[in-house]
Amino acid sequence: MSEEKKIPYKIYLSEDEIPRQWYNVRADMKNKPAPLLNPGTLKPMTFDELRPVFCDELVKQELDDTTPYIDIPEEIMDFYKMYRPSPLVRAYFLEKALGTPAKIYYKFEGNNTSGSHKLNSAIVQAYYAKKQGLKGVTTETGAGQWGTALSMASAYFGIDCKVYMVKVSYEQKPFRREVMRTYGASVTPSPSMETEIGRKINADHPGTTGSLGCAISEAVEVATHTEGYRYVLGSVLNQVLLHQTVIGLEAKAALDKYDITPDVIIGCAGGGSNLGGLISPFMGEKLRGEKDYQIIAVEPASCPSFTRGKYAYDFCDTGMVCPLAKMYTLGSNFIPSANHAGGLRYHGMSPILSQLYDDGLMEARSVEQTSVFEAAQQFARVEGILPAPESSHAIRVAIDEALKCKETGEEKTILFGLTGTGYFDMVAYQKFNDGVMTDYIPTDEELQKSFDALPKVDL
Ligand SMILES: *Cc1c(COP(=O)(O)O)cnc(C)c1O
Repeated sequence: MSEEKKIPYKIYLSEDEIPRQWYNVRADMKNKPAPLLNPGTLKPMTFDELRPVFCDELVKQELDDTTPYIDIPEEIMDFYKMYRPSPLVRAYFLEKALGTPAKIYYKFEGNNTSGSHKLNSAIVQAYYAKKQGLKGVTTETGAGQWGTALSMASAYFGIDCKVYMVKVSYEQKPFRREVMRTYGASVTPSPSMETEIGRKINADHPGTTGSLGCAISEAVEVATHTEGYRYVLGSVLNQVLLHQTVIGLEAKAALDKYDITPDVIIGCAGGGSNLGGLISPFMGEKLRGEKDYQIIAVEPASCPSFTRGKYAYDFCDTGMVCPLAKMYTLGSNFIPSANHAGGLRYHGMSPILSQLYDDGLMEARSVEQTSVFEAAQQFARVEGILPAPESSHAIRVAIDEALKCKETGEEKTILFGLTGTGYFDMVAYQKFNDGVMTDYIPTDEELQKSFDALPKVDL
């Protein structure tokens, strides 16, 4: 293959090339993702049932399986311009270091203060809350990227932001907490003693360091019990994946400029929002039979929702206050082992991606954290960017695929999502640098224990 146009190290779109609409991949899916269920009645959640939890406009987006394109409001376009378009980078230096004939591209979403793609959805959720005249929003955060993004977005629109931060992160990442407070958010370690569910979890599991599932339950409880508040979530939900399609749409527009078609598209998967956002426009072509792509989700071997989970209805949170979602899940009781440092620790997965995966339209791989940090270090040394551990899962598999091309001589084009930077993950990097990072893969028995607690839903 000859390159007709010299491809620059970075392809930037201009500000007027930022997409003006999000793409809703559900519109092109023959098998739609399963609906959220009311845990009491086991009937699909209606608009009215979801309204006390989420803003009206976001409920509409959550339930909309048919509208292919949804306009991005002007105020959000303005905010996007603060840090978008994000660059699409040709990883020339990595290719050279690997000695691969593969062509590697990555879409870099870490170039904003929150350090990740999460701001793309945070700003949307804060906007609709403001527009609906609400006072504030509550949420959970694990590693802290989502909480930071939402704090920034809430400050921009002048609404309150209450963050329940998984206790272990609250203690290990004091600087993340201070970034959030600088943007005006209140940050509470979870499980706290401020909520009914927090008190119960603390009583049942004394000394617990918390989990995302607990923090979600607390944030939902506070939102539904406080006048003028709604809960917002940074991943998993259909609406979040919709907002994140700005990543894929920009990536595709940049590639199209140079007539580049990726063969393989790779993304890390925690709850699935960046991966879903990156692949949506490509998946749309695949679903419509226009093109084919190999799509790979990468997850930690210590929290393997796709590769070892069950496709079943499950609770989204530990306190079982949220609707049930049908997804690949390890069970809402599942907590990754304490040595797991690489993020992506949520027990479930986006219902949209779960359905696509179940239909064989994408694949998934799990990788161990020491090999993830090896890839992170190799990438940092040649490409300059210090990657987030989460993003480094995608780097790992991109490198593996590029090395396969080296063996076979294939000149595949690989696109992966580089979701963020790792400046707040230096405790994990330190473990890796000191050679004390370990891997842990849950046993079948451990997984079975949490599968046994899946709700019984016969449909
Ligand atoms: C939150 C986060 C992820 C994982 O979330 P998804 O919803 O699966 O995208 C990945 N990378 C970074 C940097 C994150 O902050």
